[in-house]
Formats: sequence, structure tokens, C-alpha cells
Amino acid sequence: MMGPPGSGKGTQAKKIAVQYGYTHLSTGDLLRGLAGKTDLTTEESQALETIKHGNLVPDELIYKLVFHKIEDSIRAGQGVVLDGAVRTVEQAQSFNQFFVDNNLNQEVLVLEITLTNEEALRRLSGRRVCARCGEIVPLSMAVDSCQKCNGELIVRADDDAEVIKLRIRKQGNKAMAPVIDFYRQLGILKTVDGVQSIEEVERSIAKILEISN
Ligand code: AMP
Repeated sequence: MMGPPGSGKGTQAKKIAVQYGYTHLSTGDLLRGLAGKTDLTTEESQALETIKHGNLVPDELIYKLVFHKIEDSIRAGQGVVLDGAVRTVEQAQSFNQFFVDNNLNQEVLVLEITLTNEEALRRLSGRRVCARCGEIVPLSMAVDSCQKCNGELIVRADDDAEVIKLRIRKQGNKAMAPVIDFYRQLGILKTVDGVQSIEEVERSIAKILEISN
């Protein structure tokens, strides 16, 4: 699952995981989850600082966090939704090699949710997330607590105005174009218009997955 920050890839990835019984693996969530660890390695503490500033963490850490989880899930007979796991061409190549090594390369589909950088900026400025379950609450939803688990709603540290701009510069459409091209050339890219409502995006994705399955 690919798309600029704010495109709704996390929201849709969770929905797909529930609907198809897949494991949802968000590298952003896995990285934020490191904050709860007591014995952080230097690499992990540095990554937490990196996230705060909207920069990309080193590729090797991404592989360490996610490859073994994919293997565990596949071994248990469960598919995987990778949410934001690939953000550079180097990562795309390494994931590809990983899929080839694990005989999974025929099984991969890349879903891109498109959104202009302007709309991404608007959505990220003012959205809240549940501190307990990570549910994303858009600006338009005037609620005081998480509608899923009643948890407290907070603003993510990297949803700060300056950091949002940096994230869009580093992870927005221009930065991601070479990665998208990589997948287009492989013939495994499907694109969904992310400016639609959450339900419409969900329906568009469902159509693509029905055809591909
Ligand atoms: P997200 O929750 O998807 O917005 O990700 C939050 C942050 O985690 C990003 O702004 C990056 O700092 C970091 N991150 C997540 N996935 C990756 C990745 N594949 N490569 C590098 N950094 C990542």
C-alpha cells in the first residue's frame, strides 16, 4: 500500500486486513511502537528522532522490523498488507529480492492511493489519532474520544506544521515518483483516486482486489 502522507493508506490497509484476514504491517506503527521499548538500541533511538523530524529511517531498520514478520505471517498461512513499507527505490528493490527469495513475487500487488500534496497538507493539519488503538480521526470528525475504543485523541508528534511540510517533501508525490515507476514497469501497480470519500476509496480497492484474486 503506497501513497503520500495523508492519502488514507493506513485507514484502507486496516480495512483490507480485516476483510481478507491479512496481517496489517505498518512500518510507521512499528517504528512508533519502539517508543514503548525499555532497551532501545542506538539505531532504534536514532530512528525515533528521525521520525519526529519527518525524515526517512535507514533501510536496514525497515528490513529488520518487517521481513521476519512477513515470513511469520506467510508461514501461518496469512497474507500481509504492507502499509508504507516501501518509500525508496532501494527499498523497493530489496523487498522485491525478498519476495523472489521467498517465492512470493507472483503474489504481490501494489496499490497506490493518489492525492495532491495540497490536499495531503490540508488533511494532515488537524487530524487526530487515538493514543490507544491508532485509529485516525479526520479533521471533519468532531468527536472527543475514539469511536472504536474510547481512547484519548492526540495529535501525532510528526503532524506538526513544519514536520508535515518536510514529510510531504520527502515522502510526497515527487519523491515517490521513481518508486511508483518501478512498480509500473513491473506491471503490478494499481491506482486509486484518494480524493474520494473513505467509503468510495474502499469500494475502488475492493473492485481491484476482486479482479486480481
Ligand atoms: P507513517 O505512519 O506511515 O506516516 O510513517 C511515519 C514515519 O515513519 C515516516 O514519516 C518515516 O519517518 C518513518 N517510516 C515509515 N515507513 C518508512 C520506510 N519504509 N522507510 C523509511 N522511513 C519510514
